[in-house]
Amino acid sequence: MQNVDPNELSKFEKLASRWWDQNSEFRPLHEINPLRLNYIEEQVCLQNKRVIDIGCGGGILSESMWERGASVTGVDAGQGPISVARLHARERSAPIDYRQGTVEELVDHESGQYDVVTCMELLEHVPSPAETISACAELTRAGGHVFFSTINRNLKSWLFAIVGAEYVLNLLPRGTHHYEKFIKPSELDLWARDAGLYLSGSIGLHYNPIFQEYSLGGDLDVNYILHFRHGSSATPDTPGS
Ligand code: SAH
Repeated sequence: MQNVDPNELSKFEKLASRWWDQNSEFRPLHEINPLRLNYIEEQVCLQNKRVIDIGCGGGILSESMWERGASVTGVDAGQGPISVARLHARERSAPIDYRQGTVEELVDHESGQYDVVTCMELLEHVPSPAETISACAELTRAGGHVFFSTINRNLKSWLFAIVGAEYVLNLLPRGTHHYEKFIKPSELDLWARDAGLYLSGSIGLHYNPIFQEYSLGGDLDVNYILHFRHGSSATPDTPGS
């Protein structure tokens, strides 16, 4: 598999069985999911859309997009996460097409096939985020939507996302994230433009340690989501399309 870091994959393999345990290492993903799902749906109605979730893990976002009426494909390089995702979907009779592999492996056969591509909390775990972004763009139809979430790179994000989350609050296992793999929004935007995407929106994701709550809005200093459209900014925009 190309553009895969085996050390990163093995972290998720070890934890995969606990993916749907809301009190496990995956608690933050469960808690942010309704927020990011709503953000996506504010940009594009998911009903009857063809959606692909890249680096889907155990399927938290994939399943929730299926619940909103989308036809969903989920892709993850890890065997453990994909097995967990398949089993969980089967328990609910959710017809989600889960595939083990990378986004790069799909571009030859599925170019331009998807209305919506989501790629959440993955870019900071791959050797070349630019390649992942380019492959995500390639899968998107003209005018389609692409959502990326990742972590900014600055002193504040180091303090909050590594020191705070992994060492003080123990929200995530130590070693989950590496500072040098964090991505500035401007870098992500540049790679996306090179891939034929244009920026349509952005939003920050914040954690309040006192109330132990996540919220969307405000600055992009730590966690953030960027929303892109495929094609030139001159592409006509139909609301909710
Ligand atoms: N996107 C999910 C899970 C994020 S965790 C969510 O936000 O809920 C990151 C996931 O990316 C893990 O499941 C890991 O196995 C997977 N992964 C790591 N490198 C990958 C790659 N190169 N291609 C596809 N998936 C990858």
